[in-house]
Amino acid sequence: MVNTEKHDCKLSRHNSIKKATAEPKIIQREKTMVDAMILIYCKNHHGYSDVSCGKCFELGVYAKSRLENCRYQEKKPVCGRCGLTCYNVQNKDYAESVFNYAGPRMMFQHPMLGLHHFLDAFRNNNQLKKQSKKV
Ligand SMILES: [Zn+2]
Repeated sequence: MVNTEKHDCKLSRHNSIKKATAEPKIIQREKTMVDAMILIYCKNHHGYSDVSCGKCFELGVYAKSRLENCRYQEKKPVCGRCGLTCYNVQNKDYAESVFNYAGPRMMFQHPMLGLHHFLDAFRNNNQLKKQSKKV
């Protein structure tokens, strides 16, 4: 069984994204994506709905801290594209299951977010193509 710490589930996910900083738009969007995807996964796997369980909440905190410290910032590829190379081994596996599960569902549950993510990924493709030509 998954180790869910119930007392953590009361923590509002909004607390962690309230900071008004001049973050690049893509980082902000990716954070919202992370939250939304974790909620989809947690709802369908762990039975939580408005908040995520302890384990998923921790992944969200971790994922968002990785985003904040992402060395690419506004040039950041979407995390799937990046290969989650900045995640530690333990979180990487879990993040992969969450994002692989929730990714395709984003288009139906959060079409606007999904669309932006899709556009970001598309833009990354072009950037990566250009970069790989230069190298
Ligand atoms: Zn969960």
